[in-house]
Amino acid sequence: MADEKAPRPAVEETMIIGSGPAGWTAGLYTARANLNPLLITGNDYGGQVSITYEVENYPGFPEALSGPELVEKMKEQAEKFGLTTVYDHVSEIVTDQHPFIVRTVSGKEYKSKSLILCTGARPRFLQVPGEKEFTGKGVSYCATCDGFFFRGKDLVVVGGGDSAVEEGLFLTKFATKVRIIHRRDELRASKILRDRAFANDKIEFVWNTVVTSINGETGGSVKGVSVENTITGEKSELQTDGVFVYVGHLPNNDLYHGKLHLDEDGHLITDKKMRTNVPGIFAAGEIQDKVFKQVATSVGQGCSAAMQTEKFLAEFESEGYHGSVDPREFPSYAPFKAAAPATTPERELVPA
Ligand code: NAP
Repeated sequence: MADEKAPRPAVEETMIIGSGPAGWTAGLYTARANLNPLLITGNDYGGQVSITYEVENYPGFPEALSGPELVEKMKEQAEKFGLTTVYDHVSEIVTDQHPFIVRTVSGKEYKSKSLILCTGARPRFLQVPGEKEFTGKGVSYCATCDGFFFRGKDLVVVGGGDSAVEEGLFLTKFATKVRIIHRRDELRASKILRDRAFANDKIEFVWNTVVTSINGETGGSVKGVSVENTITGEKSELQTDGVFVYVGHLPNNDLYHGKLHLDEDGHLITDKKMRTNVPGIFAAGEIQDKVFKQVATSVGQGCSAAMQTEKFLAEFESEGYHGSVDPREFPSYAPFKAAAPATTPERELVPA
């Protein structure tokens, strides 16, 4: 295991930003490639999976395990091969010079020949009155963390995706009743979760309905929600002790604005080799994936990014750094077309 206190080289071979499944996997592969990687965890240690009660669809664990347990196993495995973990949060990356510069909130500055960005995503807010005021006082985004406090209570969950249904099911361990409020009359969640929820006596669905405000006494806790039917426009009040919000996620892209290409939803744009538009900077996991968003896919992307990083560094050492964007693998991405150099480079930056 690498020692966090051991002196680091003046210029790192590679740095990984983020400590979810993509980050640890990139750490494992770059460590095993002898790149002496450094991983900066970020404030949300472990990412989304670390607030998941049970992971039952990650291969190799037929009995399921908790998100935090899985994160610790991934970390342990990567560190065993030499990954150094730093508990800090990146405040800035400088991408228009090489080596790249990474600055952290604790005042550290690192230089690195390559970067693997795995900053993941965070829960999206409902953005209704009362949400902010009652966060921590009945409004929660983490059933695993807060479910226990609602033993014997009546809860609502907002959303219709896998997270809403999965976490709604988890909350039935504590609550007497869980109402899942969904804006349509059809769930986005996968069939296995839908079937489980429909078969659970404690779960009720409130269809075609949106929450318009979260209510309670000032300084107190949640007492109810105001809702509106999306078909009839009818407004009503539902009494509840807690509101769990699962209405999707937003990519953690604050570091990248104006520096790396983002799509219309704010995800980093990468190609099949996990390259961003800046050679030497790769991305993996939910910061660049808006389709699959599974632990298993993030792990695969972290592995791919690490392998490409190794190739990039090998080429960098042997042939020098070309510093131009290769747009040829991005025919469907307008931003890349716009950024394409006048003449397409004769060769790929990273050999296949
Ligand atoms: P999601 O799939 O994007 O679902 C978000 C849900 O919130 C949708 O049902 C959406 O409604 C609803 N919604 C969005 N904005 C809303 C608003 N302002 N007001 C009310 N409802 C709103 O997000 P997720 O459930 O967090 O899942 C994210 C990804 O992680 C998905 O790819 C999912 O498959 C994956 N995931 C997998 C598992 C698992 O495999 N066990 C568990 C959790 C998550 P509409 O349906 O009408 O758009």
